[in-house]
Amino acid sequence: MASDPSTTPTDSTTSHAEFARVAREAVGQAAIVCRAVQARLDEMRAITKDDKSPVTIADFASQAVVANVLATRLGNNVVLVGEEGSAYLREPEHEPHLKAALEAAQLAWPEATEEDLLAAIDLGDAEPTGDNTYWTLDPIDGTKGFLRGQQYAIALAWLDHGVPSVGAMACPNLPISHDAPLDAIDAHGSIYLSVAGEGTLEAPLADASADATRIIRGDVAEGEPVSACMSVEKAHSSTDDTTRVMERVGPSREPARLDSQCKYAVVARGQADVYLRLPTRKGYVERIWDHAAGSLVATEAGCVVSDVSGMPLDFTHGKGLERNRGIVCAPPGVHERVIKAIKDLGLFG
Ligand code: AMP
Ligand code: MG
Repeated sequence: MASDPSTTPTDSTTSHAEFARVAREAVGQAAIVCRAVQARLDEMRAITKDDKSPVTIADFASQAVVANVLATRLGNNVVLVGEEGSAYLREPEHEPHLKAALEAAQLAWPEATEEDLLAAIDLGDAEPTGDNTYWTLDPIDGTKGFLRGQQYAIALAWLDHGVPSVGAMACPNLPISHDAPLDAIDAHGSIYLSVAGEGTLEAPLADASADATRIIRGDVAEGEPVSACMSVEKAHSSTDDTTRVMERVGPSREPARLDSQCKYAVVARGQADVYLRLPTRKGYVERIWDHAAGSLVATEAGCVVSDVSGMPLDFTHGKGLERNRGIVCAPPGVHERVIKAIKDLGLFG
């Protein structure tokens, strides 16, 4: 599956720029697979006689393809914390899913066998440690959006002692035009690449050789209208609290609703002014792979990312953001006004 680790660079010798190049290749390859499955949702449902199976198939294929690119380029000792494990695909009754996942993965990884696929998925079963370096992957973030034929992301980040330091986020249905509607399938998509301290680059996803453009997020002056974006899924973010917070911040339009951590990119590129993820219930802990890449994309474009109390996201507590609740992502002035509004309203105390 992968090249000999003794002859390939390791974490200590590989530059952030090289990681970003590899991460771009990995999520770009996975996007080819996800896009093909999303184009054949009904066919996939028919093969497996299961309504949710297209996202299951694409999830596994995407994780395998990303893991294979990382291992091939960086060596088998790569540490990957992925959302998926192979146990489901190894169950005999899920053989149709395994076959369909392999067929999908082969679009980007033609020589893969079933064993290669399962081994690559299992490369993602590492546990995160706060005092080490590792990759984290959401092979399809926004599964509901994927099934609705709308937004989703393939999100990969490299963390250095709990600090997201390299991020790559493929958004296959996010048009490169910042004026286009956000709720439909796009033929080309967008990709975001970030390196800590070096900014965020944006490029068309479908063209691997395309030049990338740096995106720099401006602020919104007090009193000017502020536009929010939030989840489509009502269980993932409170609509009522979003309305109350935005009313307090000042003039605003109806929030844009889209799935996945594409929301971080939408704020970073100026299509919305704040991404609000306001908890709907006590006890839900955000997952690291849902925020590591996206938050870096936004901060490196000039935004501030915190939880609802204004605390920075703390990635040093395993797979969950155990010390944080919810998300507020916005340029600095808007961020300050939103955090103040949440405090003044006495929410989430
Ligand atoms: P979004 O597309 O922004 O709505 O977010 C999708 C992510 O929401 C998934 O990857 C889940 O990990 C996460 N999720 C699941 N349940 C909840 C919940 N109750 N609150 C917040 N996020 C959730
Ligand atoms: Mg997710």
